[in-house]
Amino acid sequence: MDLSVVVPCFNEERGLAELRDELNAVLPALVGQYEVVLVDDGSSDGTLDEARRLSTLDPRYRYLSLSRNFGKEAAMLAGLREATGERVLIMDADLQHPAWLIGDMLALLGAGHDQVVARRDRHGEPRVRSLLSKLYYVGVNKLADVRLEDGVGDFRVLSRRAVDAVLALPETNRFSKGLFAWIGYPTATVPYRNVTRKYDRSCFSFGRLVNYGIDGVVSFNSTPLRAAIYLGGAVTLLAFLYAVYVIACALTGHSGAPGYATLIVGITGFGGMQLLLLGVVGEYVGRIYLESKQRPAYFVKEAGGAPAPRMVVPR
Ligand code: UDP
Ligand code: MG
Repeated sequence: MDLSVVVPCFNEERGLAELRDELNAVLPALVGQYEVVLVDDGSSDGTLDEARRLSTLDPRYRYLSLSRNFGKEAAMLAGLREATGERVLIMDADLQHPAWLIGDMLALLGAGHDQVVARRDRHGEPRVRSLLSKLYYVGVNKLADVRLEDGVGDFRVLSRRAVDAVLALPETNRFSKGLFAWIGYPTATVPYRNVTRKYDRSCFSFGRLVNYGIDGVVSFNSTPLRAAIYLGGAVTLLAFLYAVYVIACALTGHSGAPGYATLIVGITGFGGMQLLLLGVVGEYVGRIYLESKQRPAYFVKEAGGAPAPRMVVPR
């Protein structure tokens, strides 16, 4: 198998046929034998029916259906495990990842790179969202041990050894953007102009994006924990100096001020800081808790299409 295309799909029944037309228009000229693995991530619309239909229509199409919605990360993992190709392309089902870019990406992969990622600009995106994203990437790159680039998503091709490297990482709680950066290997980037979604709206609401952002920071470093230690240390030192000052005042007979302001400032300031740092610690403890349960990232409900489906029992 020359190329596997992995497509996570959550409520994408309307775009799949079009996606197939796009792929069939470009892939035969670019690669030898290829397969498309559609991963239905517990959709509530007709995505699974559509995947079944495509797989009977076209022997190059196979599908997996997860037992419920496990999130895009789990769907991608399921697809990567299922992919048999020497090269693997990951692509969204919503037609936001232009198929005409695949030629350039494969050419760069052939030129000695193990990963080629497409990087979109933020054309046509709400101003606030792109500004927040920019700020986020500046911040996360200061904190995290891996470099994450703005606009770089999951639209990428990987060599077999890069796929195997990603699959060798055992965590259940996956932040793929970081994992892909973490495994290393020569990586190239292809820029393209952002395409707005044709059907429905993004599955990622603002809240879901914020959670994804926190995952990005916490999955890849313990700098926030370290920062908590420094901050805690600095505050303790200041408190000690202040105590010395207060005692000195009392000894020289200068006490007796109402002290109400100091008290309030102290209580709220320290209370806030403690909550913040407790939150940071909690993030990591939560992560340990989730990983220690060793739960599989997903379950497969149904698989179909040629070649004979391997029912993969995750881990
Ligand atoms: N997706 C998924 N599971 C989810 C959410 C999304 O498999 O729980 C898929 C979705 O079908 C699409 C891709 O992930 O193919 C990206 O989703 P979306 O277009 O909503 O995100 P955005 O383009 O806004 O990043
Ligand atoms: Mg999209």
